[in-house]
Amino acid sequence: MSTLYQISTSSALVEGVYSGSVCSSVLLEHGDFGLGTFEGLDGEMVILDSQIYQVADRVRHRTDDFLVPFASITHFRARSSFEIDNVACLKGIDLACDQQRISDNLFYALRLDGIFETIHARAVHTVPQNTRLLDAAKTQSEFHFENIEGTLVGFWSPGYSSSFSVPGYHLHFISKDRTKGGHVLDCTTQKLKAGIQVLSEYDIRLPDSGPFLTTNLSKDPASDLAKTE
Ligand code: ZN
Repeated sequence: MSTLYQISTSSALVEGVYSGSVCSSVLLEHGDFGLGTFEGLDGEMVILDSQIYQVADRVRHRTDDFLVPFASITHFRARSSFEIDNVACLKGIDLACDQQRISDNLFYALRLDGIFETIHARAVHTVPQNTRLLDAAKTQSEFHFENIEGTLVGFWSPGYSSSFSVPGYHLHFISKDRTKGGHVLDCTTQKLKAGIQVLSEYDIRLPDSGPFLTTNLSKDPASDLAKTE
């Protein structure tokens, strides 16, 4: 069974609910591959081969147990593999992966490995609770990496999922030596090895205490997500 397990919702993130609700050890029981963020929006999360990396101005390999405010994870098993050549911008990856998706109404996990000529990435910084994601993004760090080998870890989610997931492609990068990474804003590459997996079961764990209970989550977060994620 290909299940996408998620902690909290994208609308909670957009509204500034950044307090952790589920232990990272519990998160890892539900998969080995994913992305998310940390308490207080303290960096970008990359989960690859069951290891959790915290990407801020530097990369930390987290082996402790801590509370996670938002994350998506799956047991990644590529159902089909393909190559992507001559990527001049991130849109090139989107278009190549679009051809591999069998429907716009299911979720997908994507793993892309290779050498990137350039990568433009960002990492969010710690902000006070209730700072809306749109304002938090104004203090983000941006990175430009060149000729760097590594992996893009990500998901594609349907347009109808904007109140709980991040619609479209959402990719985080981690370098092969695990010292660089971030939420991917753009990249160029000659060749990538890609794997894709359909996810047709969706398991969401909602926070049952803290600001999630009292924050107004009825606003459609789609436009804020398009600007920040
Ligand atoms: Zn991200």
